[in-house]
Formats: sequence, structure tokens, C-alpha cells
Amino acid sequence: MKGPIETQLFINNKLVPASDNATFELFSPHTGDLVAKVAEATLDDVNTAVDAAQAAFPAWSALSPQQRGAPLKKMGELVVSEKDELAQLDAIAMGRPVSTYIDSHYAATHFNYFAEAAYPQGHTSLNTPGFLNMSLRQPFGVVAIIIPWNAPLVFFSKKVAPAVAAGNCVVVKTSEKAPLTPWKVSQWIEKCGFPPGVINVLSGHGQVSGQALAEHMKIRALSFTGSTRTGRAIQIASAKSNLKKVVFELGGKSPALIFDDADIEQAAKETENSINWNSGQTCMANSRIYVQASIKDKFIEAFSKHARSRKLGDPTSKETNHGPQADKVQHETVKKYIVIGKQEAGSTIDTGAEANSDSKSLLVHPVIFTDVAEDSRIAKEEIFGPVVLINTFTTEEEAIQKANDTEFGLYAALYTKDLERAVRVGKKLESGMVGINCTSPTGCWDLPFGGWKGSGTGRESLLDSMDHYLEQKSLYVRVSGIGGL
Ligand code: NAD
Repeated sequence: MKGPIETQLFINNKLVPASDNATFELFSPHTGDLVAKVAEATLDDVNTAVDAAQAAFPAWSALSPQQRGAPLKKMGELVVSEKDELAQLDAIAMGRPVSTYIDSHYAATHFNYFAEAAYPQGHTSLNTPGFLNMSLRQPFGVVAIIIPWNAPLVFFSKKVAPAVAAGNCVVVKTSEKAPLTPWKVSQWIEKCGFPPGVINVLSGHGQVSGQALAEHMKIRALSFTGSTRTGRAIQIASAKSNLKKVVFELGGKSPALIFDDADIEQAAKETENSINWNSGQTCMANSRIYVQASIKDKFIEAFSKHARSRKLGDPTSKETNHGPQADKVQHETVKKYIVIGKQEAGSTIDTGAEANSDSKSLLVHPVIFTDVAEDSRIAKEEIFGPVVLINTFTTEEEAIQKANDTEFGLYAALYTKDLERAVRVGKKLESGMVGINCTSPTGCWDLPFGGWKGSGTGRESLLDSMDHYLEQKSLYVRVSGIGGL
């Protein structure tokens, strides 16, 4: 790389600096080098982007679904043909190993699906004699989209594609920790054929630009993926401004239950991958594992073997499958929880040595805590790092009670060969998604993705997402002589 990348905002189909020329610096979490100077959007920039989106809305929403779909299709092609560059950008920004980069495929699926499938429909009713009644589904106008850093292109595509396919115009705010892939994608928006103002992309922090979007009076809907703490702040900002509709995909503290008749090797391999994939920075990672007491030692041995075989290192190398934590803040947070865990847990299994003190890389070896008090901080709080607790249970009731004893409810998993138990327990778990003999990130394209309790209010999928971006209207049409059915 020649020197730091300099990024811009993308407003009204133009790459522009922040209105006050402010930038912030982004450092590689592996080398510590300055990799980018990123434009920091101001309040003026937010207002300009919202005005551009509002001006674009009448013409964009008046197009046919095929016309709105054509540029989405082109974007679907570009995110795949440029996948190596996108993978490199996330690797240098937030340490995601290029060997784990599935985001282009994920994004292309969303751009392609919504390019073809955006035919919003209401329904009709003859159930009121003298009337032909109908409901209409119409776009909101300007929609704000705020995304996190752990898989930026995934969240960009799963929200932007359905929102614009439904006829809305959007202002996206990217994460300060991983702004480079959305910035790269913003450079393709005009060449794909989107008219000015349909997709605007801002980089910046929660303060000022995120908060400004949440409070904006011209924004009528906001889709957010990120922490439960920020979701709460956005909910309050929405309530204090114009009660915009908010859709939330939030944090997790997901349980996995391993019964004594399970395939222990499969359960150990998959639960280890779930918690340590993306260096533990996954919302649905099974960070709490409950093993039936009789198989505890066998399970922990198999789990530890997989954790020890992780290839930590340079995220731009194809050999690495475990990169550094995203930035110094994440690194400090994870290290802090490891210190707390060592005080709280009955025992600790470190799966590797601490990094040399002269290493600039923010790598953290996976850590396993066992015999942890259920009310301890590491059992209750989302750590967002390669840190798992493995506790035991004896009865099915105890397993369910421990799994549900949390304010989160994103993804729960259970492993057993007893199908009746699987269904019985699966039904009782307080969670938006339940894996039976599989765990996160296993999912599917066409069933609702989202959480119960503090893990969110939204359900996203190819089939569900467009609903978030459409208002409903009932139209009562008196028709003389029409009678009833
Ligand atoms: P975060 O909440 O710190 O930040 C998310 C986004 O919100 C960023 O763009 C940030 O700049 C912005 N933001 C911060 N303060 C804001 C404010 N007051 N108003 C408006 N915007 C604001 O989360 P993060 O650290 O980027 O991501 C990690 C979190 O996201 C974890 O809790 C994880 O579980 C969650 N997550 C959830 C899902 C899901 O689908 N449920 C997926 C990925 C990540």
C-alpha cells in the first residue's frame, strides 16, 4: 500500500469531503499502521444527504420494480467480481481474515434477490357491503440505515437492497471501525445506474452523524444493526423526535446445550467455530455452553483441541483463520473481561500464549472459562471476543432455565439425538433462532433472522426484510350498486 487511503462521503452521486474537511484515522489492528484517513460526516452533511434522498424519492418511487431492479443487479455483479479487494479492505480495517470472507456472496444474493422480487402488494376486500376496499403498501420516503463493523458489506446489502427496491431513498451511516468496504461500494453506485440521491453513504461516529440520523425529522424509518446499548439510544432519539419506525438487530449472549446423547465431536467442532469465528465478534456466537455433567470432560477436551488449532496471525494472509480484535477499544474490552473471568470462573483454559509485548497485533487467543457462577458478569454481558464459558447441567429443565436466564435472545442451539427432546426444548428456548444439531452461524436465506428480548425487534430475510421498508394504507372505496360478496 502506497500511503493511507483517503475516503470521502457519497452524497447525491458525488464523492465529497466532510463539510468542514474533518477526517479521523483508521489503524490496522494487526500492524498498527495508519491505513486510512476517513471523512467524518457533520450535521450539515447529514442534512445535505437527507435532502438529496428526499429530492430523489418522487422519481425513484415512481419507477417500475424492473427499473429499480436493474442497478441492484449490476451491484450484485460488482460485489462478486471485486471480492478480493473488498476482503482486503475489511482485513486491513478491522482484522477480518481474507480466508473467511463470505460477504461478497452474501451481498450478491441480497442485491440479486431484491432486484427481482420487489413487487409490494396489499390486499383487497369485498367484506363491507357497498365497498371495494383495498390496502396499499408504499415506501416511507427517506430511510436511515446504521450498520456495525463486524461484517459491513453483509449489513449494507441486507438493508439497502430491500429498502431501495421498495422505492425508498436511503442515507447509510457506516461504522467508524470498518468504513472502507461501504466506501468502495459507494464508488460503484452511479455506474450501476442509481439516480443521484437514491443511495447516500456517510462515514463517521455515533456522535455526530449517527445521533443526527436517529433524531432527524425528515427520516421516517431507521434500520439499525449494532449493540443493544446503541439500539436503546436510537429508540429514545426516535421517541423524542418524530417517532420514526425503528428496526433493530442487536446483541446476544447465545446458549448452546449439549445433551449426553449428542455427537460430542460434531458439537465441539461447531460450537468452537461459532464462538471463535471472526475472533468472537459475531452477534449470534454461542458464548455460553451448557454440557450435561456426565460428558463435560470429553466435550471440553474436544472443544479445546479445536480452539488450540486456530491459525492466529495476519488477516491478509490466506493461512490465517483467526485475526486480531477489530481495534484497540475492542481489544481492551476483551482483555478486561478475561481478567474479570479469571477472578470469577472456577477454572480457566488458555489455548495459547499471550502475544509478545512488542507485538502490535491485537490478537487474542481463545479463552475457555468453566464452572462460572450464572450471575457473574462474564455469564451475563456480551463480551464480543473469543471467550466462552462452559458450564454443566444435569436435567433438561435445568438446561432450559440456564439457557433462558438472560436479557438476550438471539440464537440458541441444542445437540441431542432424541428428536422429541429436541423439539420440546427448542420450543421452550426464548430465542429468535434455534439450531438443532447445528449452531450459529448456520441459518438460511428465507426464514426470519432476528432476536427476542434485548436482541432486537426486527426480522430480516429475503422474504421478511422488505416489510420493514413499506408503510400500509387502507383505502375505503364506496361503490354504488356493488352490494356485498
Ligand atoms: P455499536 O452499537 O457500537 O455501533 C453500531 C453503529 O451505531 C455504528 O455505526 C456506530 O457508529 C453507530 N452509533 C453509535 N452510537 C450511536 C448513536 N447514539 N446513535 C446512532 N448511531 C450510533 O455496535 P458495534 O460495536 O458496531 O457492533 C457490535 C454490536 O453489534 C454487538 O453488540 C453485536 O452483537 C451487534 N450485532 C448484532 C447483529 C444482529 O444481527 N443481531 C449483527 C452484528 C452485530
